[in-house]
Amino acid sequence: MALLSQLSRQLNRVGRRTFVPSVSARWASGGFSMALTDEQREMQELARKFSREEIMPKAAHHDRTGEFPWEIVKKAHSLGLMNPHIPQEVGGLELPLYDSCLVTEEFSYGCSGIGLALEGTGLGQMPVITFGSTEQKKKYLGRLVEEPLLAAYCVTEPSAGSDVNGIKTKAEKKGDEYIINGQKMWITNGGVANWYFVLARSDPNPKTPAGKAFTAFIVDRDTPGVTPGRKELNMGQRCSDTRGVTFEDVRVPKENVLIGEGAGFKVAMGTFDATRPIVAAGAVGLAQRALDEATKYSLERKTFGVPIAFHQAVAFMLADMAIGVETGRQAWMRAAYEVDIKSPKKSFYASIAKCYASDMANRVATDAVQIFGGNGFNTEYPVEKLMRDAKIYQIYEGTSQIQRLVISREMLEAAKRMNK
Ligand SMILES: Cc1cc2nc3c(=O)[nH]c(=O)nc-3n(C[C@H](O)[C@H](O)[C@H](O)COP(=O)(O)OP(=O)(O)OC[C@H]3O[C@@H](n4cnc5c(N)ncnc54)[C@H](O)[C@@H]3O)c2cc1C
Repeated sequence: MALLSQLSRQLNRVGRRTFVPSVSARWASGGFSMALTDEQREMQELARKFSREEIMPKAAHHDRTGEFPWEIVKKAHSLGLMNPHIPQEVGGLELPLYDSCLVTEEFSYGCSGIGLALEGTGLGQMPVITFGSTEQKKKYLGRLVEEPLLAAYCVTEPSAGSDVNGIKTKAEKKGDEYIINGQKMWITNGGVANWYFVLARSDPNPKTPAGKAFTAFIVDRDTPGVTPGRKELNMGQRCSDTRGVTFEDVRVPKENVLIGEGAGFKVAMGTFDATRPIVAAGAVGLAQRALDEATKYSLERKTFGVPIAFHQAVAFMLADMAIGVETGRQAWMRAAYEVDIKSPKKSFYASIAKCYASDMANRVATDAVQIFGGNGFNTEYPVEKLMRDAKIYQIYEGTSQIQRLVISREMLEAAKRMNK
């Protein structure tokens, strides 16, 4: 409790509602800089304390049981550590992405599964933040500021993940409503969300281009016909609530369409520029934890009369892990900066950060298990969980292959423009 009241005091001091380093002011001093402002350092320190004192002690329990960490969500909400992107006009903090990535890295250091429970809601919110009308923001984002409620992003289906154009969920216009029918799969917060972002095909003609064929909706969880499935038992990040969600004759008012009919693909894809740097920051937090655990262990464990860190093969493994962590951190920082300044290259940098940090976190977590030897393979030690948790970073929000597709497309488009 001492920590909580201290956090509350500090948040009040920096002004929960007024602690908003304006994005333009943040970067006005001359472009990209990794130096943190006093406010950013303070926010990072708060998140670090929360992670060390509230998340880390409960991580093993939530990993073992898969129980959703509602108590931690409620505490983080009461301290103003959730929903960093929600605009000020509806009572949010509207922090630059750079700042919220600093927080993500700290949460993920403590436990990336609990981190996802705290931050997965951001993926559902982002389409409304980016493309929602004032009314939609007030109604759906406002309630998340007021109460510890969560959102979810429903795009993937059993037969289509990477290939979003292949989704089958249908939306049919009837008067002032749309009727949605379909099945979504692998939805983070599927069973705990208060409302969903849903992408559905509104033009049945298979020849209609993706840019016109889909419509994006906000759907209240308690709408008749919405049914979340069973909680999936995943390899890692186990306390995150992943489920299928079925939509059966779900009636949604036209006021809940984002932008307009046919604009859904743009809305769904436009979300990722702002969320992929966050995923990258999460992967870096996990990798930093793996590096710290492995470093500590390598100085304690002795073989052939010396700590294993003194064997060059182990020391060089640690050096490679450190190179990965530092480079991954710089990658998310650059990507968040590009988003904050609304750069036209933001997708390129977001994919580089997500791809590099995800692949790196898997290498680093695997090497941490190697450094722990047999102990690394056992649940009594912290690193096997890190290795399991790391894998999903290469899959959700676009697999590592899809990130390379985005990066190569952007690069080749730029090259074509230069050659014209
Ligand atoms: C725990 C978890 C949480 C998730 N949360 C959400 C969520 O909240 N909301 C949501 O909508 N979705 C969510 N997803 C879904 C996730 O985004 C998809 O699983 C992911 O995009 C991959 O899609 P897929 O599983 O259909 O694999 P597929 O698309 O079938 O891909 C299979 C393999 O083929 C490769 N591949 C596919 N196409 C290409 C290509 N063109 N070039 C090269 N390689 C290719 C992929 O990289 C992958 O290795 C979640 C998934 C998991 C496991």
